[in-house]
Formats: sequence, structure tokens, C-alpha cells
Amino acid sequence: MSQLEFQTAIEDTRQTWFVDVILPVPIPKMFTYRVPHEMDDLVRIGCRVIVQFGSRKILTGVIGRIHENPPEKYEAKYILEVLDDEPVINEIQISLFQWIADYYMCTLGEVLNIALPTGLKLSSESKVQLHPHFDYYESDLEFSDKETIVLETLLKNDSLSYGEISKLLNQKSIYTIIKSLVYKETIIIFEEVKEKYRPKKESRIRLRPQWLPKNELERIFDELANKPKQEAILLHYLQNVPVFNHPELNKKGLIKSSFTGSDLSDSSLRTLIKNDIFEEFEVIVSRFDAYDNSLAEINLTETQLKAKEEILTSFKEKDVTLLHGITGSGKTELYISLIQDALEGGSQILYLLPEIALTTQIVSRLRKIFGDKMGVYHSKFSDNERVEVWKGVLSGRYQFVVGVRSAIFLPFDNLGLIVVDEEHESSYKQYDPAPRYNARDMAMVIGSQHHAKVLLGSATPSMESQYQAQQGKYGLVKLTTRFGAGQLPDFVVADMIREKNKKLSKGEFSSELINAINQALEKKEQVIVFQNRRGYSPYITCGECGWIPKCNSCAVSLTYHQYRKELRCHYCGYKEPLPNTCEACGATHLKTIGFGTEKLEEEISLLFPQARVQRMDLDTTRKKRSYDTIISDFEQGNIDILVGTQMVSKGLDFDNVNLVGIFDIDRMLHFPDFRSFERTFQLSTQVSGRAGRRDKKGKVVIQTRNTEQPVLKQIITNGYDRFYANEIAERQAHHYPPFTRLIGVIVKNRDAKLASLTAIKFGNLIKEKLGTKRVLGPEEPVISKIRNEYLMELIIKLERSQVSLSKVKQVLLEARLDLMQEKDLKSSKIIFDVDPY
Ligand code: ADP
Ligand code: ZN
Ligand code: ZN
Repeated sequence: MSQLEFQTAIEDTRQTWFVDVILPVPIPKMFTYRVPHEMDDLVRIGCRVIVQFGSRKILTGVIGRIHENPPEKYEAKYILEVLDDEPVINEIQISLFQWIADYYMCTLGEVLNIALPTGLKLSSESKVQLHPHFDYYESDLEFSDKETIVLETLLKNDSLSYGEISKLLNQKSIYTIIKSLVYKETIIIFEEVKEKYRPKKESRIRLRPQWLPKNELERIFDELANKPKQEAILLHYLQNVPVFNHPELNKKGLIKSSFTGSDLSDSSLRTLIKNDIFEEFEVIVSRFDAYDNSLAEINLTETQLKAKEEILTSFKEKDVTLLHGITGSGKTELYISLIQDALEGGSQILYLLPEIALTTQIVSRLRKIFGDKMGVYHSKFSDNERVEVWKGVLSGRYQFVVGVRSAIFLPFDNLGLIVVDEEHESSYKQYDPAPRYNARDMAMVIGSQHHAKVLLGSATPSMESQYQAQQGKYGLVKLTTRFGAGQLPDFVVADMIREKNKKLSKGEFSSELINAINQALEKKEQVIVFQNRRGYSPYITCGECGWIPKCNSCAVSLTYHQYRKELRCHYCGYKEPLPNTCEACGATHLKTIGFGTEKLEEEISLLFPQARVQRMDLDTTRKKRSYDTIISDFEQGNIDILVGTQMVSKGLDFDNVNLVGIFDIDRMLHFPDFRSFERTFQLSTQVSGRAGRRDKKGKVVIQTRNTEQPVLKQIITNGYDRFYANEIAERQAHHYPPFTRLIGVIVKNRDAKLASLTAIKFGNLIKEKLGTKRVLGPEEPVISKIRNEYLMELIIKLERSQVSLSKVKQVLLEARLDLMQEKDLKSSKIIFDVDPY
């Protein structure tokens, strides 16, 4: 046997491996690729790979399975590259992602796309380089001026991106030039794939080791005798190195005035580096500040201790426990204590909070206790910061993470406890894009994957969770008193009809609210006024003909924003300047209708000129730190009256707030949705909970036009149990969750007729299979057009017990597939929303 034959024989005995890769494409399966032998040792489940998809596309995906079976119907392509030495996601996550894809009727790729932080995804860029067989100086080809520029630049640079070429030639379209150069075989095109995550680097300075001995150092000082600026740097360096055997300093820090009172010379430092006295190098540093791990004590009260015992007992029997504790009862303290125990036990902990509740306030409270052990995962973090938390969980640096809904995707491998605070919050549900998941519900799935205990907490539990607790599926623990001397507030209902008739009110402000605010200001106490609508006024209208400006792309009126003198669409972001005249009749008498937070802020400033008023809503908190700034200004007493949307209702804890105003409760109650009573009860109770959290009794003024509404009575008597009893009876009578399960179907098309036709056909198809009773619609939703797409809606209502959910989903998926074969309907999108909110 020749050497070569021998080699081949050995190779033949080697096993060929295949991997199934999850790719970010909306096709519901993994894709099989072949592993080249040189990568045999590199492929592991959860590592990212680069593969070719279709004839041209290069994609990154994650290895989901490794096996020995070649695909039956096609020849598998080779994977091009394995990007990670260590997996970035683990096998538990892959099975979670699959679970989510199945349950929420989307693809694994779509789940992965939302799960992975952007920084771990890859960007690819088209680049060119010289053709290996092309020699510019030997060539007798003719080149245009621009081609010459490109080629000559490529002689000096290894490669150029399309963007760089475009800049170089100062023209946008460079396609023909590139095509011509490729045709002449002078350049080749390639895709450069880069990870978006960039570690944070810091320049450090250190004295070269050869100068460390005393006599050498003296020699340097002699040399620098008549160079005072350089000498000063060396002196400050020596005074500030932490330890002599680890003598490095942050470069910026060395020059900064904090050491010396005046900045040292940057150019002198450069000279010292150039002369080999100092050396400069880079290190990778964390983007997060360092914190002490000195754990602060917490002491639970007797009531809280008892509740904790009950929770632990409940955990012995049940995987999920609901903690129903009134606002200010110390639920957070309880979580902290349970988290401490779990940390000692060595397991991982996830503490979920709704987006807007995850503020500096709660983070700094937790930081004092958990220090560096705690990671924070928040959507206001940069891509790079999120990757660092992700990697911190992988490496074990963070045993405990507090985060928003997307934190359920982090690579935990050993969770012991998941806390879902404010479990009733609708912001745990993702609307768009897919997966349309609910993080609270997923917490329970993850809990069972890890055999972890799940604690749901709320002052106003969701109907779903309370029902499960009543049924005995979840444990139930209650905290019914506030911490310390804190008492629940008194409620005052301001009857706006009576106020108006008796001419007591000033505009939309009741005399009760005005008097209460005046009293609070006199006592130097702070006030929160809540109105769940941002902008200045919901719409403007012509006083002559009734014309209302509407968005061209959505079926909604434009909201007036006074600060920018703009009309804005809250659905698509469209803006236009406020018109001076009516577009229909030309009249100049345009008036504003209704009250947004912006107008509320303005009117309050006019009514209480002595008060410092601040607004907190989506518009004033767009910047990364603006939310925190407002909160800390309020905490420090720099604001007297805080006006805001539901942002002011969540998890905030202020000492000096004893008055809360609920400006217009009717609007919330009459929102056309089966959950509107539940939401109103929750929001009002939560925002009321901000009043009187210390020793003083707080007061809540609620303005309404209908004082007889039962929900209102339940709110003012803190009658959660009564509210629940009424509401659950309603839900049962009308077949709504938790007695049924809903799947929303949304049909979108730019053509109104096609949207409607698709919805009708889809409805007919599934009615045939599921029965007409289970399918509601199609109907036009309240907002029937968004971003130029017309919408139609169907609701599938399923009895919880009798039907197999997966069979129903199968029917829906097949119906969609069938319809998409029809030529005219192809332009429609059909979207499923399981457990819609
Ligand atoms: P909840 O989350 O139920 O609304 P918090 O945990 O925010 O209540 O507690 C309300 C206030 O009471 C907070 O300022 C908290 O620091 C304080 N508090 C609650 N329990 C204790 C305790 N055991 N020791 C000290 N302070 C406590
Ligand atoms: Zn008009
Ligand atoms: Zn719009």
C-alpha cells in the first residue's frame, strides 16, 4: 500500500458527522450541514457556526443537534466555520426555544433571533481584495481612472469594503466598477463576518521591567533631570501604582488632573513611551462598575417571617407559589431573603421585573445586598453590555440576575428560584415580533426544566394566577399589612358630574383634587397625579366643521404634542407640524379635545404656580438615563408634583408622597377589552399604593363621571377578593380566560379587500375543522389600519379541557399554508398570537 492509499484508508474509517443548525429564517425546521473532518473536535451543541444558505447567502446559526444521519433528499453542504470554543447557549435553552416555538406557533429561528443579544449575532460585510493571480505591475490590461484608484489602493491595503470604495471614489453606486474589475480577474469579492460584540479595552501604562531596580530607576531620573514634564509623570506614576510588583496604571487616569491638580502632558507621556521607559498595552475590562460584596443585613418582621415560612412550606408541595401581598407589605424584602438563601444553596436565581419597574431605585437597593454577584439585564443597556451579562451567566460570574422579560433567554444551567414580581403586568407579554411570549408563563416552563421553584408576586394578582391558586394548582401566601406604621390610604371619589353642575371644578380638576394638592404642598409633601395617556391632547378638531386630523398610514387620529407643536401618530411614529387652519373648511378655530399628560402638566403648573412640576411618560424618558434622573430628582425633593402615565405606578417607593390623584379612571374602565376592569383595578391599586408608605396615612383622589361603578367601589375598599369574585364570574359566564384559551389571528394586507378576503377564507377553512362556535370573526379591530397595512382579526376560543391544543394549532398552521398557495392571497400575512393580551 502506498503512503497515499494508506492515508485514504484511514480517513475512510473516520465517522462523518452532521449537525442540525438553527438559522434565523422563518422556516420551521433546523437545517442539516456536514462537518468537515478538521472541525470534528470543534462542533458542540450551542456553538455558533457560519454556513451557506441557498446559493448566495451566508448565515450564522447555532448548532442544535449533532448526529450521523445524512439528509435524505439533498446533499448536505459543509459548515464553513465554527465560531466558538465554548457553546454560547446550552441544551436546556435549545429545548426551551423549541418549546416556545411550538407553543407560540413560530419558528426556532425567530425565537433565536429574539433570544440572542444583538451583540452575539454577526454582521457580514462585502469586501474585495486583489485576485491572487493578478499582478498589477505586469499586467497589460487597460483600466479606467477609477479602476486604477481602486487597484492602487488595494496594493496598499489588504482589502476594501464596498463602503470604503464608495468613499474613495466619492460616488454612491460602485457596482459597475466592481463588476468590471471582477470580470477582468483583477479582484475577488468575499464576505467578512464579524461579531458585533466588542470587548471594552483600556490603555494601561507600566514602567518597563528593566528600570525597576533602584539603580536603574535613579539613572532614568538623572536622564530626566532637565525634562521636568516627563519627570513629573514618572513621579506621579511611582506614587500611584497600587503595588510595585503589579505596576500598571490606567493611561487616562495617569494624566488626569485628579492626581496632581493640573493635567500632566500627554505628549511627554508619549515621549516616555517612545524612549522605551514606559510601555503601553491594552487590557479587556468590564463595562460594569465594581461593587462591594459586603452583604447588608435584612431583618424580616414577624409577619414577613411567617409568610416566608409559608412560602417554603408551599414550595415543598408545589412548584409555583403566588404571593399576594398588598403594596408596601415588604414583598421585595421577602424576595431578597429567599434569594439570599438560594445563593447560599449554590443555585442560580432569576428575578424578573416588568420593564418600567426595573429602575435604579430597585437596582441600588439590591446592589447594597448582593454587590457584584448580581447581574442586571435591561433593554436600555447597550448591545455590548447585554453580551457581558450573557457571558457572565455562562462563566458563572453572575449567579443571580435581575432582569426584564428577555432575561428568560439567558444561558442558565442550574436555576433554583425564579421570582416574577408584579406577575399581573401586561408588559411581560411580547407583542411584536414573534415569539409573542409571556415571560411569566415561560418562567414556569423554565422552572420545570430546572426543577426550580417559581414565586409569583403581586398586590393585585392576575385573574389567571389567582384562579390557579384557588384551584390548588399554585400555593397561595398572603401579606395583608403594610410594613411598620404604613397604612393603606383613604380614598376620595370626586364626582365630576356633580362638580361641574355645582361649578366647583376648575376645568377638568375637581375641587377635591385641587384642595388636596394645596394641602400637600403646604405640608411640603409630594404628589403624584396619574393619567394613562401621553401627549397633549388625544386629538384636535375644527370648531367649525368638526374635522379631525388623522394619520395617513393608520386608522387613528393624531395626538397633539404641544411642546414640539406637532401632531403625532402613536402607532407608526408619523409626525407633522400643527396646522394653522382646518384642512377641510379653512377655519382657524382649532381646539384640543381631551387630556394627555402633557396638558395635565401644563394645567397643573398654571393652577399651582408655586409648585415644581415634572412629567414622566414615554416622551420624557426616551434617553438612557432620563428615567433615573426624574426618579432621583423626585426622591431628593426637587419635584413637588409628578405627573405621569403608568410609569409612575410601578414598584416605586417614596418617603414623602401622601397624595395620589387618579385623573380620569373612566377612560381606563371603558377601554374595549375583556381585561379592562382587571387592568383598571390593578393600575389604580398600584398607583394608590405609592401614597403613605411610611408613618403617615395617605390619600387618593379618584375623578370619575360615574360614581356607581362596582370596580370603583372595589378599588376604594381594597376589595381584591370581592373584585376577583365578581370578575371571575363574568369570565366564566362569557367564556373568557382563565376558563378558555384564546388564540388571536391577525391578517395584514396593504390592500383592504385582500385583507378581508384572506380573513374570510381563513375563517371558513378553520370553522370547518374546529366548529363555528370556536371561531369568532373575522372582524375589523378597533384600529383597522397600522403603517398602511389593513388589519382583520379572528379569535379562536378553546375550552381548556376538551380540546388538544396541539391539534388545533396544527389546523391553524395547515390552513395558513393552504391559503398561502393561493396566488391572490400570497401578499397577506397571517400572524398567530397565542394567549393574546
Ligand atoms: P412591596 O414590594 O410589597 O410594595 P417593599 O418591599 O417595597 O414593599 O417595602 C415597602 C417599604 O418598607 C420599603 O421601603 C422597604 O424598605 C420597607 N420594609 C419592608 N420590610 C422591611 C423590613 N423587614 N425591614 C426594613 N424595611 C422594610
Ligand atoms: Zn373645519
Ligand atoms: Zn400612523
